[in-house]
Amino acid sequence: MICPVCQSDMIVVEHNRIELDYCAACHGVWFDAGELELLLGSLGLDGAGRLLGDIPEAAEVDTGEEKRRCPFCRRKMKKVDLEKKVLVDLCPQGEGIWFDGGEVGELIGRLFQKTPHQPDVLQNAIEFLGEVIKPWE
Ligand SMILES: [Zn+2]
Ligand SMILES: [Zn+2]
Repeated sequence: MICPVCQSDMIVVEHNRIELDYCAACHGVWFDAGELELLLGSLGLDGAGRLLGDIPEAAEVDTGEEKRRCPFCRRKMKKVDLEKKVLVDLCPQGEGIWFDGGEVGELIGRLFQKTPHQPDVLQNAIEFLGEVIKPWE
């Protein structure tokens, strides 16, 4: 699959049965429909259910940036704001979600703040992100 931002070939990475398309050049990540749920669920993030339910209804944000195209259907993706902080690109047909480099880590960090008393969550996330996405390199 081709990266919607820099047009590099993306690599498929797998972790706990979750497959992601990752761009090694710009560090963006594509989640197919359902994979973000699997990831957040595997991390035990309680706030994630509501967030994921809200995504399809989320209002489009006008950023003035050029719209990116879905790597599957090539339609223009809509920009939506998750947790009032993380701007992601969403396929208008619901095929998946694009996160720019570091945005997955930011989202998980925000969900983690809303999930008290689960010290394993952050450890799991760091392990996952460090292994698969490496946002801090
Ligand atoms: Zn890229
Ligand atoms: Zn699409």
